[in-house]
Amino acid sequence: MNPHTSTSPKRILILASKLGYQTRAFTDAAKKLNLEISFGTDRCHKLEDPWSDGALALHFENPESAAAEITAQMSTKRPDAIVALGDRPTATAAYAARALGLLSNSPECMETCRNKLRQREALRRANLPVPEFFEFSTAEKIDAAVARAKYPCVLKPLSLSASQGVIRANNESEFGEAVRRIRKLLESPEIQVQREPNLDRILVESYIPGREVAIEGLLTDGNLRALAIFDKPDPLEGPYFEETIYVTPSRLSESDQRALLDCAEQSIAAIGLNTGPIHAEFRINEQGPWIIEIAPRPIGGLCARALRFGSEKMSLEELILRHALQMEGSNAVREKLAAAVMMIPVPKSGTLENVQGQQTAEKVAGIDAIIISARLHDYIAAWPEGNSYLGFIFSRAETPEAAEAALRESHAELKFTLNPRLPVSHPVTGRLS
Ligand code: ADP
Repeated sequence: MNPHTSTSPKRILILASKLGYQTRAFTDAAKKLNLEISFGTDRCHKLEDPWSDGALALHFENPESAAAEITAQMSTKRPDAIVALGDRPTATAAYAARALGLLSNSPECMETCRNKLRQREALRRANLPVPEFFEFSTAEKIDAAVARAKYPCVLKPLSLSASQGVIRANNESEFGEAVRRIRKLLESPEIQVQREPNLDRILVESYIPGREVAIEGLLTDGNLRALAIFDKPDPLEGPYFEETIYVTPSRLSESDQRALLDCAEQSIAAIGLNTGPIHAEFRINEQGPWIIEIAPRPIGGLCARALRFGSEKMSLEELILRHALQMEGSNAVREKLAAAVMMIPVPKSGTLENVQGQQTAEKVAGIDAIIISARLHDYIAAWPEGNSYLGFIFSRAETPEAAEAALRESHAELKFTLNPRLPVSHPVTGRLS
C-alpha cells in the first residue's frame, strides 16, 4: 500500500484536549503515512504554544469561534482532513471542515451528539428504542424531579463523558443523594474550567437492564462498517458505571448482533451522521437493543490498541487516517484473533503511591501489554467523580473467553497502593478542605 497519492504530503489537523497516548498513536500513524501534522488544543489557553510544537491554542467550548481561528491560522497550510479525539473537539472539527470545504459530518449533528438531551430527542423523534427521559436544572428545587422519576433511573450530566457523574438511583432518597453529588462535581473547579454549556442541567433516564455492548465503526456516505462489536462482560448495574473489560468478537448470537447493527444504522441516520469514526454503546435485553449513546469519534483512551487490521496489523488510528484522506487500505478487516482490553478500575480515590506485580501480570499467557497510565504520586478519583483509569491491560487469544480470562488473571496480580488525600488547610482561614 503506498501512502502517497500525490507528490506533496497530505496534511492532517488533529484536535485534542489531552496530550496523551491517543494523540501519540495518531501522530505515529500520521508519520508512518508521511503526513504533515498540525495540532489544535485547548489544554492551556495561557501558553502560546502549549505542546511546544506549534499547536493552535483553541477554545473548544466555543466551536464556531475555535473553527474561525483554525481557518484564519491555516489559510496558507490548509489541512486535507481534520480528526477530533475525544468528545470535546468534535463540533469545532465539523465547523472548521465546513469552512475549509472538507468532508465532514455537519456541525449541527455534532452538536446533537455532544448534548445527551439533544441526542435522546433526535432518537426518540425517529421512534428508536431509547429510555424514557427528562431533564431539570440543578438550580431548581428537586421535588418535582424526584416525583417525576420512575425508579430505578440513571442521572447524568448533559455533556460530560467516560461515565463521569453517571449515577443510578433506586428510590427517592438515592435520587436526592445523586443530585447533590452531581451538583458538587459540576461546580468543582476541574469541571467549571472546561466552560462546557449546560453545566447546571441533569438528564434523568429510566434504567435499562441488559447486557452492554459497544460498536466501533467507520461511516462512509452514511453507511456503517462495523470494525468490531465489543461485549462488556462485567455487569454494569451501578450505582456508578466505570467501565472495565471490552472483548471482541462478541459472543452474542448472530441475530442479536444483526439487531444491534440495524439499530446502530437507524440511529446514525436519525442523528444525521455521515462520515468518519463512531463509537456507539447499546444495551440488549429480551425487548431487543436499546441505544445508550453514539459518539462521532474513535474509542477513547488506549483501548484502540486492542484492534489491529489487515495483514500488516494496521492500527485503528492508521485506518481512520487513511479513511479520512481517502487513501487505499481503510477497508482492511480486523485480525482473526480475539482481543480484549481492561480499563483498570480505580478501587478508591487517592494518591497513587505504588504499583506492584506488573512483571508477573505481564507473564500471564495471552497478555500483550500492560500500560499503567496513572502517574505515581498523582491523585486519581474513583467514579462517579473520576474519569480516568489506572491503566490498561491488553490480551489476545484464540477465543473471546480465553482473552477475557487472561485479563482477569493478570489483573489479579496487580496491587495498587492508593493513599487518601490529606486535608489541606486554607493559608488564610486555616479551614480544612
Ligand atoms: P458517558 O458519555 O459519560 O459515558 P453514558 O450516557 O454513555 O455516559 O453512560 C455511561 C454508562 O452508564 C453507560 O455505558 C451505561 O453502562 C450506563 N447507563 C447510562 N444510561 C443508562 C440507562 N438509561 N440505563 C442503564 N444504564 C445506563
